[in-house]
Amino acid sequence: MSILDTKLEGVKTVLILGHVHPDGDCIGSCMGLFNYLEEVYPDREVTLCLEDPPEKFGYLKGFTCVQTEFVKETSFDLCICLDCSNTERLGGGEEGFALAKDSLCIDHHVTNAGYAKTNVIDPDASSTSEVLFGLLEESRITREMAECLYTGIIHDTGVFKYSCTTPKTMLVAAKLMETGIDFSRIIDESFYRKTYVQNQILGRALLESITFLDGACVFSVVRLKDMRFYGVTSKDLDGIVEQLRLTDGVECAIFLYETEAQRYKVSLRSKHKLDVAKIAAFFGGGGHVRAAGCTMSGSIYDVVNNLSLHIEKQLKEVEGA
Ligand code: AMP
Ligand code: MN
Ligand code: MN
Repeated sequence: MSILDTKLEGVKTVLILGHVHPDGDCIGSCMGLFNYLEEVYPDREVTLCLEDPPEKFGYLKGFTCVQTEFVKETSFDLCICLDCSNTERLGGGEEGFALAKDSLCIDHHVTNAGYAKTNVIDPDASSTSEVLFGLLEESRITREMAECLYTGIIHDTGVFKYSCTTPKTMLVAAKLMETGIDFSRIIDESFYRKTYVQNQILGRALLESITFLDGACVFSVVRLKDMRFYGVTSKDLDGIVEQLRLTDGVECAIFLYETEAQRYKVSLRSKHKLDVAKIAAFFGGGGHVRAAGCTMSGSIYDVVNNLSLHIEKQLKEVEGA
């Protein structure tokens, strides 16, 4: 019996929440848990609310059951938050979380201070999907649940290549494969596939990228007017920062996109040395050592300059050490 089973004792209604702008791990873990509860705890009434999940995850079982309108003024017996490092990132789900009688947070963000009544946070895990796997009874995991968790793992590990990938990650993935999932299709369709306009905006962002700090940093920005021109939304910008990070000689990649006038969503990635979670946390965000994010205001010049000061300082510290 895991902590999940203990928390579900005597519970009638469950609310599952993820973070704003949900990514593959958020959606995979939320859907994996949703399908598990439907199967293993059929008498619990489960509601899953997520902000506008991308259509590319439509192959996951139960995708059409996701509510995009957040529940208000309802007190659930238990609220389970997945892949979300603080309550602000619950977005429209914050009210449901606050009103719930009990709460459980399952996560892997190093910046998560443990905001729920019970917290299962493993910063060494590749993904929340991997943490969740440890809380489920293995023999009850169906192929459909495995598809969800596998999707989460490949998205947060960049298909098993980021440094967060561990031997344990591979063992979990192996167990998920044993259920008979079509892993090649999942990887192609949810991770690598791009629409024509997604490729165009990626190309544009790479073309306009600028290196600084002697090539140790690279940055690019997509403005609202660019998004309008190409007919894309923020959901079409996934993967741009990863491509920037691959640039030869680069230790840190910065990608910004404009959310409103003078306001930017910032994505930070590093290769070997920088702790970008620390930098993102300084600006009110969070994440992981090699992948983190925050939201910043001001001109593009101000945002990059402010980040650059922290990057340069940290680089000097690690290089001088
Ligand atoms: P992103 O650059 O948005 O792909 O995010 C990289 C990592 O940092 C992910 O694990 C996010 O969950 C986390 N992250 C991004 N933005 C924030 C934020 N504002 N606050 C806390 N964590 C964040
Ligand atoms: Mn996430
Ligand atoms: Mn995650």
